[in-house]
Amino acid sequence: MAGITIFETVAAMREAVAGWHAAGEEVALVPTMGALHEGHIALVTEGRRHARRTIVSIFVNPTQFAPHEDFKKYPRTFDDDCAKLVAAGADAVYFPSVEEMYPAGFATRVLLLGPAAVGLEDRFRPTHFEGVATVCCKLFTQSRADHAVFGEKDYQQLKVVTRMAADLDLGIRIVPLATIREADGLAMSSRNRYLSAEHRALAPTLHRAMQDLAARIRNEDPLFQAVSDAQNEIITAGFELDYLEARHAETLAPVTSLADGPMRLLIAARIGGTRLLDNIAV
Ligand code: AMP
Repeated sequence: MAGITIFETVAAMREAVAGWHAAGEEVALVPTMGALHEGHIALVTEGRRHARRTIVSIFVNPTQFAPHEDFKKYPRTFDDDCAKLVAAGADAVYFPSVEEMYPAGFATRVLLLGPAAVGLEDRFRPTHFEGVATVCCKLFTQSRADHAVFGEKDYQQLKVVTRMAADLDLGIRIVPLATIREADGLAMSSRNRYLSAEHRALAPTLHRAMQDLAARIRNEDPLFQAVSDAQNEIITAGFELDYLEARHAETLAPVTSLADGPMRLLIAARIGGTRLLDNIAV
């Protein structure tokens, strides 16, 4: 793919980053699994605000998928992704093979407590964050980047990675970015392409229901009733609801009212086999 530097090995990426650092240039890393959309491009733009150089990693990480999940059929659109990254002004793509990331004999995992063990995504995908944290830890130490940009779209992931980077003194600053949405409110996601036309039309229900719920909570409606009404609305609309919960925005601990601190609403719901994730501040 012409137009953008592609690193396939840790060594090649480190050599380039060492050169940039020697020239006094900071580096931002944007970890992704590819199938890039405008949400990812916004992360690149944010990276460029923080650092002179931006690397986007594209790695569909097998260790964060459970055996029954969509690892094999996850969309892979590398040439298209590179063209988008050239247009976005990224400096390089890190595109390691599974063998480069996990050489034979690889036997280490990051053990997570705190925001990774609060009963949200971890309840439905028990090994997911261990895989995410392990690969992110490797991406940070492989690249030696100064900043890493993550979307609020995956809010629990953002908190897990931020906690890990601080706890393990990884020397990288985690930069959050607000969720980029379609015009009808649906959070952009690489998995939205799995939706049928009928389910795509229903999908914005999630964001709408959460906005209504946030308004009721700000209005001081009793939290339990307001959440329970929103859950029922989503189920009635045809979704299978994994969770819709109000949590503390920082710790992700359960809350009972706005008096408990800043609140975040988090949802995971399935429709036609596609699992949609979203969250908003109250
Ligand atoms: P993935 O889509 O799993 O490859 O995620 C790569 C990064 O993009 C993560 O930091 C996500 O949170 C972020 N991301 C995905 N979708 C969006 C979105 N709609 N808005 C902002 N960031 C996003």
